[in-house]
Amino acid sequence: PVQRTGKINDSREGLPIVQEEHEIVDAINTNPVTVICGATGCGKTTQVPQFLYEAGYGDPDCDSHPGAVAVTQPRRVAVTSTARRVAEELNVPLGGDVGYQVRYDKNVGDNPRIKFMTDGILLREVQADFLLRKYSVVIIDEAHERSVNTDILLGLLSRIVPLRAALAAEGKAVTPLRLVVMSATLRVEEFVENRKLCPTPPALLQVATRQFPVTVHFSRKTEHADYVGAATKKVLAIHRKLPPGGILVFLTGQREVEMVCRKLRDAYPLHGKRVNAAESSDDEDEDSGDAMDDTYDVDAIDAGGEDLGGDDDEPDFDGEDDMSDAASDISEEDEVLVMGGEGVGEEEAAEAEAAWTRANAPSTGLGADKTADGPGGLNVLPLYALLPPNLQQRVFQASPDGSRMVIVATNVAETSLTIPGIRYVVDAGRAKERVYERDASLSRFQVGWVSKASADQRAGRAGRTSPGHCYRLFSSAHFVDEMKAHADPQILGVPVEGVVLQMRAMGIDKVVNFPFISPPERSALAAAEKTLQILGAVEKSRHGEEIGPLTDLGRAMAVLPISPRHSRMLFAAAQSGVGGCLSPAIAIAAALSLDSPFLRNSSETVEDDEEEGEAKATPKGPPPHVRFHHPASDALSAAQALLAYDACKSSDAVTFCSTNRLHEKTMREMSDLRRQLKRLVVNLATTSKFGDDVFPNAAVLNELDDSNQAASSMISLPPGGDVERTLRQALCAGWADRIAPNEKSTKATRYVPALLDAAVFLHPTSSLHRSSPDYVVYTDLLQTDKRAYIVGATGIEP
Ligand code: ADP
Ligand code: MG
Repeated sequence: PVQRTGKINDSREGLPIVQEEHEIVDAINTNPVTVICGATGCGKTTQVPQFLYEAGYGDPDCDSHPGAVAVTQPRRVAVTSTARRVAEELNVPLGGDVGYQVRYDKNVGDNPRIKFMTDGILLREVQADFLLRKYSVVIIDEAHERSVNTDILLGLLSRIVPLRAALAAEGKAVTPLRLVVMSATLRVEEFVENRKLCPTPPALLQVATRQFPVTVHFSRKTEHADYVGAATKKVLAIHRKLPPGGILVFLTGQREVEMVCRKLRDAYPLHGKRVNAAESSDDEDEDSGDAMDDTYDVDAIDAGGEDLGGDDDEPDFDGEDDMSDAASDISEEDEVLVMGGEGVGEEEAAEAEAAWTRANAPSTGLGADKTADGPGGLNVLPLYALLPPNLQQRVFQASPDGSRMVIVATNVAETSLTIPGIRYVVDAGRAKERVYERDASLSRFQVGWVSKASADQRAGRAGRTSPGHCYRLFSSAHFVDEMKAHADPQILGVPVEGVVLQMRAMGIDKVVNFPFISPPERSALAAAEKTLQILGAVEKSRHGEEIGPLTDLGRAMAVLPISPRHSRMLFAAAQSGVGGCLSPAIAIAAALSLDSPFLRNSSETVEDDEEEGEAKATPKGPPPHVRFHHPASDALSAAQALLAYDACKSSDAVTFCSTNRLHEKTMREMSDLRRQLKRLVVNLATTSKFGDDVFPNAAVLNELDDSNQAASSMISLPPGGDVERTLRQALCAGWADRIAPNEKSTKATRYVPALLDAAVFLHPTSSLHRSSPDYVVYTDLLQTDKRAYIVGATGIEP
């Protein structure tokens, strides 16, 4: 029996889904497929796995469902944070009954009863065991996000569930597998109504949420340029004029988030007095170079900027007043609408609001979060994907007395994380996403408008604990006319060669016949096939076959959790027969699978728009990581940095990164990936499942023997040797269609890829500027606002 603490029991009590435990467990017990819809924060992710746990799922002694509960999430942040929370709620250690696994990190014992993981991890597990025998139930969470892996998993599970049922009925040693699909919106209709996926309609449960009404305030005009400044202004106005309650701000990227955090902290420091605006902007110039666009002035707003409405008569919040006048007052809006409020009566809403205000008013009796000197401090917390987990976790902690919590977040806060105590949402209405162009060789990180569904999700975050307000920095006309109903499923916008290879490795030969919820375009599938052919993963298609058979090499490539190109490079090095290549090749594969870890020098004025790896600007001076630079290869430079990082003691890792200006989280993930690849390569070589031509000799294993670690000698691999030549050739095998000649103009750093009719530039952090080789092989082209850059370039001889 579960022994929850009193505090946990209290917080569970308030969750709408807890009322429906019985119906939910009953539905899952009796239906192969159950769909659970409920607004964000109703308790789906944290509670449903616990219901199943208490119903005996995952108990090896249970006859009907001894297998574990698998829970997938599209985002890594959500995996670690919810696993931790569920272990805490169940009062069991993390890594015991409750565990988690994401690509670069895991804390899971041998026999977890509940395992949280990203959808990508489960996809790999399907590849290893198509029947997923370890599990008795799979919960696909956040299905409405429509990530590629989630979509594929749903397609696969639509086959696995009936298969397990049939085998169980025949008395084979398996129990039936239950599928639970959870979603924050009703956008699962495409799944539920797809007869190919769901021949018999699934049980559909809608959790009656007690969502308090949220008043949505549209701006009169849509802020097109300085939405970051507009968001800052809005937060400050809310803080000055409106009753207590956390503020959640939605922006698009790390750089914006950190900038706004700085502005807000300067305006209302948590402890002590405000810094004046002049000082704070000096500060900023120093640590962020010219990247910041300082077009607004905190003090001007504070003095009562004209667009905020006069603040001569400060509204008086004594806990009973309706705040909506004041709430509208701070907004120059064209329209207000109230959404939500399901399951909550007007009186109850008013009461919750008053109770909230009373509970949060400081003992000065001044009401709101005001002290005699005006508003209190702001407890400003950033939230974005690359933030270290311990800092991400801070959003769940209570703010110091008398302060107001402001969370400045990217899209990660939209659905996967429920942050307590949010009463105000400020929504810029945008998100940054990677957009692929021209047969996927060029991509850009683009800030675009989110969908109406996303905007409503964001607004809903304000109504969890009491009635709330959402300030949209765009007009209602813009919302209606310009924003789409739903975001496109991810599978329609990304290259699919990795997905196709994995599906083929699972024995799905006719990928076009796969029950996709939204099938990728034929041209995308054709491009994937072509790439796989170039890489030697599939044979040329013969007599009208849609796609040729998978080769042994292709099967081996599918074993590695990296893209087919990276795998191909690694195998090319292994097959070369040149001693000393494998270890650096693994390091290269790991390094190239993540964003460049090299922090930029701020004297370079390039907009670095890599999604999560953005805002790596650092103080002036030559970046110390030049010592890892290989004169003719950015791929080798990154690998050298990685090997040096792995050679230092783990206690020194943080210092190592800061002295060498390397992005620490990126380095840690690369290092984990490298270790994982080494393990898998050793497996491949020892099981010799694939024959000598794929993975030639067991002698390569000596290279990977840690006691005989030649890796550290690679830190200064002398240019021009056999090993280096082989590695360049291996890179060419992985990216054979991505080779570009130097433009040979006065600008020696311009290259002209065959696939593109325009010149592209070496990235400022590239080590190739001096040598400017005649030809380079590259891994990606990244378009920024200013120009297109070559990523992962290596000089080659034609
Ligand atoms: P849903 O999946 O329906 O969006 P969740 O199960 O994620 O809802 O959240 C339910 C409640 O648990 C929320 O009130 C949320 O604040 C709380 N919660 C979730 N994760 C954590 C955590 N890591 N720490 C503290 N509270 C959490
Ligand atoms: Mg959830």
